Amino acid sequence: MNFTKKIALAASLSAILLTGVSASAQYRLPASHNQQHNALIADQRPAGIDLKSAKINSFANDVRAREALQDNELFNYNFSSQSVNAYAGCDIPANYDIDVTGFVAPVKGKLTSPYGWRPRFGRMHRGVDLNLHVGDSVVSAFDGKVRLVKYEARGYGHYIVVRHDNGLETVYGHLSRTLVKPGQRVRAGQLIAKGGNTGRSTGPHLHFETRFMGLAVNPEAIIDFENYVTHKDVFTFDKRTYERAQVYGPKRAKSSASKYSKSKKSKATASAKTKKKSKKSSRKSRR
Ligand SMILES: [Zn+2]
Repeated sequence: MNFTKKIALAASLSAILLTGVSASAQYRLPASHNQQHNALIADQRPAGIDLKSAKINSFANDVRAREALQDNELFNYNFSSQSVNAYAGCDIPANYDIDVTGFVAPVKGKLTSPYGWRPRFGRMHRGVDLNLHVGDSVVSAFDGKVRLVKYEARGYGHYIVVRHDNGLETVYGHLSRTLVKPGQRVRAGQLIAKGGNTGRSTGPHLHFETRFMGLAVNPEAIIDFENYVTHKDVFTFDKRTYERAQVYGPKRAKSSASKYSKSKKSKATASAKTKKKSKKSSRKSRR
């Protein structure tokens, strides 16, 4: 091997090395990767395995959603969102076990209005109303971290959203005073606010919501509001039975379920009749 050949060889070797190093240093998974990946799967799949790839995709979504609920991610995932639902458009696990053993009743007032469709107002009631006197203590239902402390004149009034270690979020509405700040750690049973009558409220009460990844779950599916304890130590959120959980209620289960389906039907008829009206009610149906 003569000198010129050696130089040429060395040059080409270093070129290969350099290219290799710079490529790995610059390589980053593009944000659109998943979309492209899914598009590739869609292009490649033979017609016969449609179902199989849908299953694989839903499994991948499930894994991603579970990752978002793991301890290190839980308090990072869209935590700074200013919406009550910080998980809009997010993948929801098919089922998820929620440890509710640490529950403490936010107030111990009587349940005056259940979760569910309110035909009179043409909107969903996404929580339960618990009776109280203005100034009564409102405490956090589980351990967690305060996510939102806000005011909404035509809705929740003064309200707080807490994200909990168990993956649930709870909403406390119509408060007279808030006593915590966003980002603050709270324990189950810790005083967070004073109850009130602010926002769209016709009398002093606490509007209380339990949400899993932004989806409002009937608090009565988790909590027995007569004894202020949870029904079980673990509440299993199940995507398939989520609709059923929405109308769940230990004593009114039957009537509230039939009321719900009936009013749902009448809503469909109404929306078919007047587009304007249904628009109005869907805007109203935020809580
Ligand atoms: Zn309410």
